[in-house]
Amino acid sequence: MKNYILNLIIYKSILHINVDAPFTTFEQAWEMLNWIASKGVTYFAFNGKINQCEEFHGFYSDYCPACGKPKVRTFTRSVGYYTPIDTWSTDRAAEFQLRKWMPLNEKGANA
Ligand SMILES: [Zn+2]
Repeated sequence: MKNYILNLIIYKSILHINVDAPFTTFEQAWEMLNWIASKGVTYFAFNGKINQCEEFHGFYSDYCPACGKPKVRTFTRSVGYYTPIDTWSTDRAAEFQLRKWMPLNEKGANA
């Protein structure tokens, strides 16, 4: 995963690191943050996805842990703050399809 991130670094612009779920531990997040900073990246953000079921519960997986219903909407950051993807412009929605998502909790920060 680290080599993949290095290949995406574009200096003088923000690096969005798309993670599919929250970090599992503080140490995992701290290690990733320090590794990125050690590579000279000074402007970056971790970008997540939050799903919503029809009962308006928020969660990270495909099915709601509160009611068991599937996700019906996904929120993520386009510029600065989280918005529902289905409200994005056609061009921005197309860009979303190109995004790569890091499975942090399957491989860990060292993968
Ligand atoms: Zn629910």
